[in-house]
Amino acid sequence: MSRTIGYVTFSDSTKYYFKYDGTADICNRNLYVNENEPWNIEEPKICQCNNSEEVVIQANYGGGFWWEGKACRACMCITEGTDPYDETVTMHDGYEERSI
Ligand SMILES: [Zn+2]
Repeated sequence: MSRTIGYVTFSDSTKYYFKYDGTADICNRNLYVNENEPWNIEEPKICQCNNSEEVVIQANYGGGFWWEGKACRACMCITEGTDPYDETVTMHDGYEERSI
């Protein structure tokens, strides 16, 4: 399986989970409260409220890696940083302490 679970962590330590596709190296933008929920197939969510917050995006893929992005907890989706290989993203190996 090349798909795995990742999670975003907000500044207040709230964590929401997403599905990470390790073949395409991209995050499914939809966020879920529980770790088992991202396996549901749903239409991609879009933030309509522009209340995105800074988050740490953590992928549990390989040895783990993380980067910074944005997500909206009202709309439950990642709004920036779904592609860790985008030139605007700085990827770090391992697990970020803010997201543990
Ligand atoms: Zn929103």
